[in-house]
Amino acid sequence: MTRLIFLGPPGAGKGTQAKTLADNCNIPHISTGDILRQAMKEQTALGIKAQGYVDRGELVPDLLVQDMVLERLRQPDVNPGWILDGFPRTVNQASFLEELLQDLNQDSKKVVNLEVPDDVVVTRLLERGRKDDTEEVIRRRLEVYRSETAPLIDYYGDRQQLLVVNGNQSLEEVTSELKKVIVS
Ligand code: ADP
Repeated sequence: MTRLIFLGPPGAGKGTQAKTLADNCNIPHISTGDILRQAMKEQTALGIKAQGYVDRGELVPDLLVQDMVLERLRQPDVNPGWILDGFPRTVNQASFLEELLQDLNQDSKKVVNLEVPDDVVVTRLLERGRKDDTEEVIRRRLEVYRSETAPLIDYYGDRQQLLVVNGNQSLEEVTSELKKVIVS
């Protein structure tokens, strides 16, 4: 049973690694960023509400993303496990998730923090060139990461749930380190 949360700054490689591992383990890769981008593309009610926040590099309000995750974790395909990428991003979201997982009997998860230095992150994001990857928006996303999301490292560390992986290596090296730590 693999239930894994990926933490790390934007550009740490969470998405790529989460997808590879999820394919490997045959479990869903649940990316809140991907779900939001799909909703914005389809101009659903959620997408329309989220658009301005994403474009500015701000966090979408907790209640909106929490609802998304609640819906997603209720689907039967998550029974063999899941990898969450991009959620939780605030302490508030983390305590929501704790309760939700208890209610759904999906406890016993691990949290991986992908560590990458700031300068590497900025270079990677500028190369990626997504619509919300302009320099100004990247700077804002990093600020938001530091103030809202980085506190989760202590949150999970205090609960002895945190595993740390060096994200500043080749894709293959990160994948193999990840595989080692999640079975440990
Ligand atoms: P990155 O890996 O570059 O941070 P994501 O694809 O994970 O990008 O997220 C893109 C954007 O979607 C974020 O900047 C934010 O606006 C929104 N978003 C994604 N997940 C969450 C979340 N858990 N809470 C609030 N906003 C979110």
